[in-house]
Amino acid sequence: MTWGPLLRLKEALGPEAELVIVGGAVRDELLGRTHADWDLATRLLPRTVMDRARAAGLKVIPTGIQHGTVTVLLEDRPVEVTTFRSEGDYLDGRRPISVSLGVDLAVDLSRRDFTINAMALPVGGGDLVDPFGGRVDLAAQTIRAVGDPLQRFAEDGLRPLRACRFAAQLGFDVEPATLAAIPLRLEVARKVAVERVFTELDKLLRGKEPQRGLALLAESGLMDLWLPELRPMIGCGQNRHHRHDVWVHTLEVIREVPAESSLRWAALLHDAGKPGTRTTGPDEVVHFYGHEPRSLELADGLLERLKASHVLRKDVAALIRHHGTHPTGAWSDAACRRFLGRLAEDSLPLDRWAAFRLADQRGKGLDLGNRLDEHQGLMSRLAALAEAAPPLAVRDLALDGSALMRLAGRDGGPWLGALQRQLLEAVIEDPGLNTVEAIAELARKLMAAD
Ligand code: ATP
Ligand code: MG
Repeated sequence: MTWGPLLRLKEALGPEAELVIVGGAVRDELLGRTHADWDLATRLLPRTVMDRARAAGLKVIPTGIQHGTVTVLLEDRPVEVTTFRSEGDYLDGRRPISVSLGVDLAVDLSRRDFTINAMALPVGGGDLVDPFGGRVDLAAQTIRAVGDPLQRFAEDGLRPLRACRFAAQLGFDVEPATLAAIPLRLEVARKVAVERVFTELDKLLRGKEPQRGLALLAESGLMDLWLPELRPMIGCGQNRHHRHDVWVHTLEVIREVPAESSLRWAALLHDAGKPGTRTTGPDEVVHFYGHEPRSLELADGLLERLKASHVLRKDVAALIRHHGTHPTGAWSDAACRRFLGRLAEDSLPLDRWAAFRLADQRGKGLDLGNRLDEHQGLMSRLAALAEAAPPLAVRDLALDGSALMRLAGRDGGPWLGALQRQLLEAVIEDPGLNTVEAIAELARKLMAAD
């Protein structure tokens, strides 16, 4: 969205509104970074904002009147307009006991978490309002708490995690005093609602430097509050197939996969089962027998605890479950189709599986030699086989269950599932067999043999 519609709102609210852009939008504008939403702030009380915006023909939704927030639709995009506010004491480490509306802009900015998030830009022109040196910190790529970090992190235990999240998203450092305050406020951070934690961790992982955010979580102790399963991965040595320990490999894979939620969470957790399954053979060779099911179990337990969505849990599980499959040029077409069938059963698209596998290979830190060509070749072959839309599941058979029951003159029962599996096996070997006539003939033969 451009500034145009914001000017219209400014006109509607009048000059005493002191309408400004605040928070992340100012930061991202100054960085030349795209941002999804514009957060606006005003001196006017929410009722006045509603009345004046409506009088000017704008659509308004009273989203959070008691906190001072109304949502105005500008060119069909929702924009939050919040009255300048100050916050009362924080007693539970999560939220203030009261908020007061109608204070000065400087007071509003002082309650914000970091200097780079505590600037305001007047709508329609005017100087940047920057009482805490946010612009200098932006230029120095620094995340610094507004005021005393120990106090700010005692008020709201989410802020330390947000510091790590912004470091990952922006590629910034956390200023030393701000970072040093985190370990001293872990007990406050522990009380934060897990849904808020998940949202921040998810943004951290999707950031441009997730490894930076994760290193900060490890260093500050936040990792042990919410992701204790990760700690044993740090320094867990591997074998000749890897240059890195399990943790460094994990960070590399996260960096290599596209910045998308399930890929990043799967990368984070795909080898979480390794430390617990590590053994050293008599020949001093390190093994991780059974690490894949263990990784799956740890990953799903962790995501369930963080109240991640079922869709995410399912997608992550599918990526982890299939990450250890390494098709080779020696596979038959039927073996490839069987594998495509397993991916389809888990609703895992081939290209996502391939992106993950490639990242896992690259993350080993070894010279891949001609492995990349091999990967490309295999992918083209798998894609071509998938393109032909071969039957991969029982539901793809040319005769369905009721047709097979009519053919057999029998009611359903365990025999039916067994027959369908045999038929499927046959059409995976030879997809040309998947016609009504051929399946009927084969089904008769198989039943006669029984
Ligand atoms: P993005 O929306 O890109 O994730 P953002 O900076 O807009 O980043 P929001 O969570 O949308 O982050 O918050 C908007 C603004 O509200 C922040 O820029 C900051 O000024 C303030 N803010 C948000 N959460 C807190 C908090 N826990 N403590 C203090 N200020 C906060
Ligand atoms: Mg925002």
